[in-house]
Amino acid sequence: MTLDAFLERFDLVVVGSGPAGEKAATQAAYFGKTVAVVERSKQVGGVAVTNVGMIPTKTLRETALYITGFRKRDLYGVSCDVDRSSVDTKMSERTLDVSGTMSDTVRENIARHQIELVRGTATLGPDHTVTVTTERGSKRTLRAEVVLIATGSRPYRPSNIPFDDPDVFDCEEVLEIGPVPDSVAIVGGGAIGCEHASIFTALGAHVTLIDGAPRLLGYVDAELSRELQQIFESMGMSVRTSTRLRCVERDERGLRVALEGGTEIRPAKLLFASGRSGNTEGLGLDEAGVAIDDRGRIKVDEHYRTTTRGIYAAGDVIGPPALASAAMEQGRIAMCDAFGFTYKDKIDPVTPTGVYSIPEIAAAGLTEQAASDRGIDYEVGRGRFATNARANISGATDGLVKLVFRRSDRALLGVHILGEVASELIHIGQAALHHGDAIDYFLDVTFNVPTYAEAYKYAAYDGFQRLAATSTSNPWARFEES
Ligand SMILES: Cc1cc2nc3c(=O)[nH]c(=O)nc-3n(C[C@H](O)[C@H](O)[C@H](O)COP(=O)(O)OP(=O)(O)OC[C@H]3O[C@@H](n4cnc5c(N)ncnc54)[C@H](O)[C@@H]3O)c2cc1C
Repeated sequence: MTLDAFLERFDLVVVGSGPAGEKAATQAAYFGKTVAVVERSKQVGGVAVTNVGMIPTKTLRETALYITGFRKRDLYGVSCDVDRSSVDTKMSERTLDVSGTMSDTVRENIARHQIELVRGTATLGPDHTVTVTTERGSKRTLRAEVVLIATGSRPYRPSNIPFDDPDVFDCEEVLEIGPVPDSVAIVGGGAIGCEHASIFTALGAHVTLIDGAPRLLGYVDAELSRELQQIFESMGMSVRTSTRLRCVERDERGLRVALEGGTEIRPAKLLFASGRSGNTEGLGLDEAGVAIDDRGRIKVDEHYRTTTRGIYAAGDVIGPPALASAAMEQGRIAMCDAFGFTYKDKIDPVTPTGVYSIPEIAAAGLTEQAASDRGIDYEVGRGRFATNARANISGATDGLVKLVFRRSDRALLGVHILGEVASELIHIGQAALHHGDAIDYFLDVTFNVPTYAEAYKYAAYDGFQRLAATSTSNPWARFEES
């Protein structure tokens, strides 16, 4: 009997059940394709719903805000004394509960689309074959017209960090830290580092946030990044930017963290939250003819095709932006290309970003720096939450809505928000960017009052005022413009 007789055939085999894999698989199945999803982990859904990834961190944040009464402390003069020795149990339970529900939702979605979920570790072979090895060592070989690699990423673990030390953790091990410690050093001023730093600060730990770059969240508008740092410091956090880690070691007094410049800190715990590595080891990429770049990321074109015809890759395994939101869309676009579904052909050019720190940051479009680098004659408008009624009612007055727009025609170029529910509010600006609106749009529409969204209107008024003060023409006479 030939090998072919043992092959199980599908139209599509997806490796990985995270956001990229799930959305690609269900879309192909919806349009009538036979699909198998291979997943090595017990829970489906990838790092988006498990391993203290996306949903778990947001649940931790919400739980920390709720049980500490963080936002209301100053409003009512009530101090919520959190029992730091037991809070971790409540937080773990809630996080695992939400994580389990979301993983079940993914599993049900896969089942509803009559997709075969194959448990085990996948290795690619020649001719679009995928061999799956189960935990018990048995093997199945699948073959498909199309294969999607959606194996995601894991925390980067540099060799100079002693992860075998009981007080040193990577960002996916945060639930293992146990009772809230007196002090935590967090390495990494990116999204994950800022989120955890603000959660631990809300819980009453003294946090030192360390990053080698000159400012937190380097890709965010510089003004908001600086303001976030000030808010963090006002919460009691020590933020050390432009500071590299020299070494982490243990001596008779506990953990010793040496920083460049000679400073030394003695945190009870250290959380390393800097960088991620694509899951490509042992995948059989060579065998399948799939090339990677010099940073180990699978090379793809704009349709998420790899260097082997019929094999696609999407999500964290292809590198930035490494967001669940982007991973889902990449998976869908890959399937449209692979099977000729015509409803979608490219990724949203105005993909928003969101950081769920306390407070949140979200953005879409050009930063002030990017507008300047492109030689655009731009202006900005700011609507501060300090004067926003809803923000005052909620006691969340930090931050602003900042609009970046072109001076000549007031075309909106970018929206940057620091503050409560920034990750929700950003979609108003994103829609305006998509429609090619000028900031005039925010003057013309009526917003519900009181709302955080109203800050858009006052940001636009501020923009008009700044324009009026600095130009020879009168921006308010807009209906007289040719
Ligand atoms: C702490 C944290 C917070 C985050 N917050 C956000 C956020 O707020 N917003 C946002 O958009 N994104 C966020 N992200 C990023 C987001 O979680 C990822 O971008 C997203 O999960 C990537 O999806 P994916 O499908 O590429 O991979 P993953 O979600 O990593 O899934 C890959 C799956 O493939 C499986 N797998 C790997 N190798 C094999 C193999 N050989 N065989 C079988 N199965 C295999 C894995 O077990 C895993 O289930 C966060 C990430 C972390 C870690």
